[in-house]
Amino acid sequence: MAARKRFTLSALEVTLTVLFVVMTTVSVTLIIMTATRSATTCLGPTPDPKPSYLIGVGRADCTGPPAELPLMGYANPQQTAAGIHTRLFSRAFIIDDGRRRVLFVTVDVGMISQRLRLEVLKVLQAKYGNQYRQDNMVLSGTHTHSGPAGYFQYTLFMISSKGYLKSSVQPLVKGIVKSVERAHSTLRPGRIYKNRGRVDASSVNRSPHSYRNNPQEEQNRYDDNVDKDMVLLKFTDLDGDGIGALGWFAVHAVSMKTTNRLVSSDNMGYAAYLMEKHKNPAALPGQAAFVAAFSSSNLGDVSPNIEGPHCVNSGLACDYLNSSCPDGGTKECQAFGPGEDMFDSTSIIAHNIFTKAKELYASAVDQVTGPVHSAHQWVNMTDVTIDINATHAVKTCKPALGHSFAAGTTDGGGDLNFTQGAVEGDPFWDGIRDALLGEPSNQTQECHWPKPILFSTGEMNWPLPWHPEIVDVQIFTVGSLAVVAVPGEMTTMAGRRLREAVKQELQRGEAFSDADVVIAGLSNVYTHYISTYEEYQVQRYEGASTIYGPHTLSAYILKFSHLACAIAQDRVGTLAPGPPPPFFQKNLFNLLPAATLDRKPDNSSFGDVLEEVLPVYRRGDVVSVTFVAGNPRHSGDVRDRSFVAVEMQDDADAGADRWTLVHTDASWETRFFWLKGSERRSNATVEWRIPADAPAASYRIKHFGHYKSMKGLRPLITPYQGTSRVFRVIDSFYSE
Ligand code: ZN
Repeated sequence: MAARKRFTLSALEVTLTVLFVVMTTVSVTLIIMTATRSATTCLGPTPDPKPSYLIGVGRADCTGPPAELPLMGYANPQQTAAGIHTRLFSRAFIIDDGRRRVLFVTVDVGMISQRLRLEVLKVLQAKYGNQYRQDNMVLSGTHTHSGPAGYFQYTLFMISSKGYLKSSVQPLVKGIVKSVERAHSTLRPGRIYKNRGRVDASSVNRSPHSYRNNPQEEQNRYDDNVDKDMVLLKFTDLDGDGIGALGWFAVHAVSMKTTNRLVSSDNMGYAAYLMEKHKNPAALPGQAAFVAAFSSSNLGDVSPNIEGPHCVNSGLACDYLNSSCPDGGTKECQAFGPGEDMFDSTSIIAHNIFTKAKELYASAVDQVTGPVHSAHQWVNMTDVTIDINATHAVKTCKPALGHSFAAGTTDGGGDLNFTQGAVEGDPFWDGIRDALLGEPSNQTQECHWPKPILFSTGEMNWPLPWHPEIVDVQIFTVGSLAVVAVPGEMTTMAGRRLREAVKQELQRGEAFSDADVVIAGLSNVYTHYISTYEEYQVQRYEGASTIYGPHTLSAYILKFSHLACAIAQDRVGTLAPGPPPPFFQKNLFNLLPAATLDRKPDNSSFGDVLEEVLPVYRRGDVVSVTFVAGNPRHSGDVRDRSFVAVEMQDDADAGADRWTLVHTDASWETRFFWLKGSERRSNATVEWRIPADAPAASYRIKHFGHYKSMKGLRPLITPYQGTSRVFRVIDSFYSE
């Protein structure tokens, strides 16, 4: 069986190579023909002598169970999933220069966990052998705070996620792998163009007090206290037809607030959705051939809530230093976006990102050429020594979180009475911490100074280590563009320093004289934040969450510089792989209770309508219908399915019973709410915001689900569906 599998794989590789050679030959012939023609006529387009790449793009649904699982990001235990606004997708890009290949995947998740990456690598290795490896595959999270949690193997994250949840891990692994399969199977010769432009009115610094602690002369070099540039790659086939776009932009995907319970890809995911819709207007969300993705970057201190923080209870400004309010502490100090509500804010930021991307895509002429490189190492981040000068060296620390970590940020405050900017501990909480979890050692306290330690996670190993020690550092380059995969959230200035250091190292190589460096944030393994040494001294949220101590950034600059230098000198093969991360088999725990049996009201069936639609609506109205429902967790793997269908009747006047699917639960216009009631009963409410371009016609709304019951002693899962009455959308009440 194994031998046969190997044979199949090599056959596939041979086929692809042959295909590549044939297609390259064809394109070269075409170029020669064009060249000959223009040489004789002195007219026509200038032949493009620059070589092409083999490019593949793919997207796949990776939505997990949209019910009862905690949402990953705000660490708010009350914020569990209860429906879907938009679906989560994984988007993969493969670039091959004929000798070497890189794979970049951006996923609508809070962050990539080490466990998720290891699981994905295992599946890809079984399927593709040595083609996609730890050194040439980057996984990056968009940082949406509205995706299911539970895909972490370290204790701290398992606690905030109610455990290691297979039902959360599996759809992510399968979705990511499927997006790679699709990219792999669509590999074709093509070209890449790069462009750069400023995205306005979409980001603000949420820790200006920390930022201002950076050296004044360093701040003077920049117009803004956040990076507003988007770097965009445009992918085309050899005919110049667009096949994909990939942009990097630094903003937190937290337009959706802690009060949101719907699975959502937030601003970055919706921007990708809009770009894909723009390219393939007829396709349903997630179905377009064109793949557009926006990757996170150095967003550590960057908020999309551009109106900034104020006290919700009093309307007054929050305390500048510690973001708290006179009454109600940090919880009352919240930042708000440009919109009327969080959905509106998400839409505005997404449209800003999309509009700029569309413009950059249309005007991109700077072709990316040159070989592909990738360099990767595993580093023990608790033990990196950085030489400051000939006589003085500093070190990283065992991981620990400071008090301000528990304060949260103005994008979502903590529940307890912690405030940001704490450089002294709180005797009350320190006492509880010491009693429950143990006191931090003197060594760790000194190493992290001036951080008052709340959780000495590097000294907590039960039932599994609380934080990772082994971390991925990784860079890949395509021509002179370098993508630095950062395993966490770098602040604006931290990102700038890293980019500059990497650029300097790359420029040792001739091919990189005009090197351009971008940061792909939240990649490969999550290690919270990375602030500068100066920002760390202030100990706001970002500094308190810089887990390897004040010299974390210096250590990353050192390690990434090694990689960049190896790429510049074309000696990546000499890099030691470093200590591999653990893959825990035992002591993973699951605290999420199993989904209970479903009950329904007497004399009703699952799928029955409890609250009907109105007979007639106008555009801009919200249609709402409520069904007797089962728990969406009973629907199992929900990828590539929908809990919702909005259908339009074809030729209603002729009485034809033919319907066209116009929206699914992935659509921006629909919201699927799951409402858990008492006595194991639950409802599903589907809302449809009728868009301005909806044809005047007859419509109906369907809901699909599964319920769990007992058949004798065996649990039984049964599918059901419900359908609303038919309703009309009319041009106006007066014209009909
Ligand atoms: Zn964040």
